[in-house]
Amino acid sequence: MTPSHKALVPFVSVDHMMQLIHHIGLELMLVGLADYIEADFKRWELFDKTPRVASHSATGVIELMPTSDGEVYGFKYVNGHPQNTRDGLQTVTAFGLLADVATGYPVLLSEMTILTALRTAATSAMVARRLAPKGADTMAMIGNGAQSEFQTLAMKAICGLKTVRLYDIDAQATAKCAANLTRSGLNVVKCTSPEQAIEGAQILTTCTADKQYATILSDNMVGPGVHINAIGGDCPGKTELAPGILHRADIFVEYPPQTRVEGEIQQLAADHPVTELWQVITGAAPGRRTDEQITLFDSVGFAIEDFSALRYVRDRLKDTGLFHALDLLADPDDPRDLFGMVQRAAPSAEKE
Ligand code: NAD
Repeated sequence: MTPSHKALVPFVSVDHMMQLIHHIGLELMLVGLADYIEADFKRWELFDKTPRVASHSATGVIELMPTSDGEVYGFKYVNGHPQNTRDGLQTVTAFGLLADVATGYPVLLSEMTILTALRTAATSAMVARRLAPKGADTMAMIGNGAQSEFQTLAMKAICGLKTVRLYDIDAQATAKCAANLTRSGLNVVKCTSPEQAIEGAQILTTCTADKQYATILSDNMVGPGVHINAIGGDCPGKTELAPGILHRADIFVEYPPQTRVEGEIQQLAADHPVTELWQVITGAAPGRRTDEQITLFDSVGFAIEDFSALRYVRDRLKDTGLFHALDLLADPDDPRDLFGMVQRAAPSAEKE
């Protein structure tokens, strides 16, 4: 039985997402995503918010991230499995959905493995634009895996980054990242230690994957006046920064009830002061106040960023044809005759 047109849901596959990125241009898309995320952070109080629902195992975590602005509902399914790359699998994969709150009908289903990398990078750069010291143009990028090029290019497109200094415990990852950034217009420096990577950098990005309390940056590595963009510590028992750094930094977070469980600040007392980013974006709280201040974005990734990213994709999809129309919803002519619709689809011999 052919479903009626109105029930078909646009589905953006991985292939279509890649085409959409090339259609728009990666850096322009990062700028557009940052604008959408910023717009949603400005109306933060409108949203239904909850820490993500996490299912932990010995090897990783599977999470659901829902939110709603009252008109549109969204969620993302995402995993984090640091050991996956050993078997040729991604550490992070994801897909997500938007739905119309008035009817509950899905209006978009999308791959989000690539989109997550873009939205995480766009969020980092949107935050660095407010917190990094004036004129910051050099970033240390520690952890050169799947997220790293996106993080770097967002800082270029949104914050005017000129130089990136790469370090990874796996030299092949650094070589891959440097090769991918060859034509980026950035000055790319391959480093052999984290200490070398942070030399002269005003922005320190940590984006490693290890399910433990790791020390990617130790206390003595972080001097005054830098901005730390801490991406990889995003699960209970998974952090990247020495606690001493946290005590010297002004800490900015997405949604405290989630970050206190998942972020770097899980290492601190539950009442340690933090600033909510949405308040910086609305002007209710200050961002960077002095040149000497150490600012820290304790990023864990929040549902509203995914909602914004899906909203951006939905808006940019129109007229591109870069989606499949998915037969996801049963749509009987008589809404109460679901059974009749199933019966009519039976092979003709069965109907007789
Ligand atoms: P990935 O596995 O592709 O890359 C991680 C890299 O870190 C690897 O190249 C690995 O060799 C390197 N690494 C591990 N330990 C290191 C160390 N001690 N020093 C230097 N390098 C080290 O993972 P990815 O997809 O790039 O994700 C990176 C991290 O970011 C993960 O922990 C992931 O959970 C997290 N993440 C956070 C957000 C967010 O919103 N905050 C979003 C996406 C991913």
